[in-house]
Amino acid sequence: MSLRVFFFSFIAFVLLVSCTNSHLNSGQQAQGSGNEIRNIIMMIGDGMGPGQLGLLEDYARRAPNSVYNGKQTAISKFASEGVVGLSANHPHGSLVVDSACSATQLATGVASGSEMIGLNWQGNSVETILEDARAMGKATGLVSDTRLTHATPAAFAAHQPHRSMENKIAADMLSANVDIMLSGGLRHWIPKTADTDKAVQKQLSELIAEPSIELESKRGDNRNLLLEARDRHNYQLAFNRKQMDRVNKGKLLGLFAGSGMADGISYSNSKTAADRTQPSLREMTITALQLLEQDQDGFFLMIEGGQIDWAAHNNDAGTMLHELLKFDEAVAVVYDWVKDRSDTLVVITADHETGSFGFSYGRHNLYEARKLPGEAFAGRQYRPNYNFGRLDILDKLYAQKKSFEHIWQEAAINGGGEFPTAASLQSAISANTGFEISLEQAQEILEREPNAYYEAGHSTLSAKTFPKVNDFKQFYVFGDLIHLDLIARKLAKHQSVVWGTGTHTHTPVQVIAWGPAPVIEDYSGFLHHTEIGKLTKQALSN
Ligand code: MG
Ligand code: ZN
Repeated sequence: MSLRVFFFSFIAFVLLVSCTNSHLNSGQQAQGSGNEIRNIIMMIGDGMGPGQLGLLEDYARRAPNSVYNGKQTAISKFASEGVVGLSANHPHGSLVVDSACSATQLATGVASGSEMIGLNWQGNSVETILEDARAMGKATGLVSDTRLTHATPAAFAAHQPHRSMENKIAADMLSANVDIMLSGGLRHWIPKTADTDKAVQKQLSELIAEPSIELESKRGDNRNLLLEARDRHNYQLAFNRKQMDRVNKGKLLGLFAGSGMADGISYSNSKTAADRTQPSLREMTITALQLLEQDQDGFFLMIEGGQIDWAAHNNDAGTMLHELLKFDEAVAVVYDWVKDRSDTLVVITADHETGSFGFSYGRHNLYEARKLPGEAFAGRQYRPNYNFGRLDILDKLYAQKKSFEHIWQEAAINGGGEFPTAASLQSAISANTGFEISLEQAQEILEREPNAYYEAGHSTLSAKTFPKVNDFKQFYVFGDLIHLDLIARKLAKHQSVVWGTGTHTHTPVQVIAWGPAPVIEDYSGFLHHTEIGKLTKQALSN
C-alpha cells in the first residue's frame, strides 16, 4: 500500500468510525433489524447550494449579533449526527437542472428532462415516492412556502409535460389523494368565473373567509377545485392560520395566498404579530406532523423552503438569508419531532444551486495595519493585501428591511409611476439596506436595452426590451425582474457578495441523511439526485 493509499484509507476509516460514533451518541440505534423505516421526511431547500448553506452557517456562528446566539442551526445538527454527501443534479442530456426536473429525479429515482413534472426523460409517467407511500397505506403530505402547484411540490404528486401547466397540476394533485397539502397558489384552484361573476365571488369569499387573499383565478375553466376537494375528496379547507389550527385530524388542503406565500423578510418582520394571517413554514410543518403522525402505517412528508431560490434569482442576499432562516425554523421542528425516534429517515437536500452566490475578496476598502501579539509580527505590522470580507456584513444582511422586490415597489410608488425614478430608487435602497449608492448607479439599474434574444410568444423572451445587463446577459432571463439583479451589482462592494448568474448552476449540492445507520450510510459519497430518489424509495419499502 502506498503512503497515499494508506492515508486515504485511514481517512475513510476515521470518517466511518466518527459517523458511526456520532450516530450512537445521538441515541439513534434502531431496534430490531436497525433499518425499519416507518416515516420519511424529505426537506428541500430550493436553490440552497453549498454557498447558500455556508451563508446560513456563517451568519449563525459568526455574525456579531447572530439571532442564533451561540446555538447550532437545525441543519447542522442533522449534519453532525447523520451523514453528509454531495449530489450532482443534472437533467438528462443537459448540464444545468431546473426545479421541476430536479424534484422529479428526487421523487422518482429516474432521470428526467428539463421542466418536466413526474415523468422520465422520454416523457412517460413514473411513480413517485409519495405515490409509493400512499400505495403502502401510509399518509402523505406536501408543504411549501411557494405555491402548491409550483415545480417542487408538483413533482411529487403530478405528471405533466411542463411545469407551467399549473391548472392541470392542481387537478392531478387533487386526484393524487395527498392527505396534507399546505402552501400558496389559490389562483389555480378557483374557477375562471371568480374574476367576473358576482355570485361566484360571493360564494368564494364566504368559503375562504380570509379577506387578505386575492380571489383572482388563473384557471381557464370553471372547475372549483376547492369544492371538489371538500365535497368529493373529503378535505378540510384552510385559508389562514386560525383555520389551519382548528384542524386536528383527517385530510387538509390549506392555500394561504393567491400565488407565493410571504418572503423571508416580510415573514421575519411579522413573525410575532398577532394579526399575521399566513402560517409560517414552521407552523405548516408542525400541523403536517401532528396530522400525519396519527396514521398507524407511518407517512411520507416533503417540506420545501422554496423561496431561497426566488431570492437567489433576484441576486438578493439579504432576503436569501431570511429565507434560509425560515427554512431552518422548519428543520428545527422536524429535528425536535424525530430526535428520540429510530423509525424515521430525514433527508435534507437542495434541488440545485441558484445564482452562483458567494462572498468574495477584493481590492476595495482595505484593512488598516495593526499589531498582532504573535512572535512573527514582533517587528512588523499585520496588513493583508486585500479585503477578505468583514464579519459585520452578516449583521447588515440580516438588517435588510425589505426584499429587493418590495424595495422596487416602494421606489415605484414614491417615484409616482410604473417604474422608480433614479432618486426614488436611490433613497429606497438606502432606507431598506443601509447601503448607499450614487444617483448615477441608480440610473444604471434603471437602464433598458433592446432584447437581443427576442422570441415571439415566449413566456419571458417576448419582451421587446430588457433591463440593460453589461456582462453575462444571456444568463439573466426573467425580464423586468433583472432590474433587481442590477441592484446587487451596486451593493457587491458593500456586501462582499458576488453573483455569477440570474439562473441556476450545475454545482453539486449537499445531501444530509439522518436516521438508522444502515439506512443512511449510502447517502455519503458522491451521488446523483436520481440515486437519492432510489435510496429513499428503497428505504420506504424496507
Ligand atoms: Mg421549488
Ligand atoms: Zn430557480
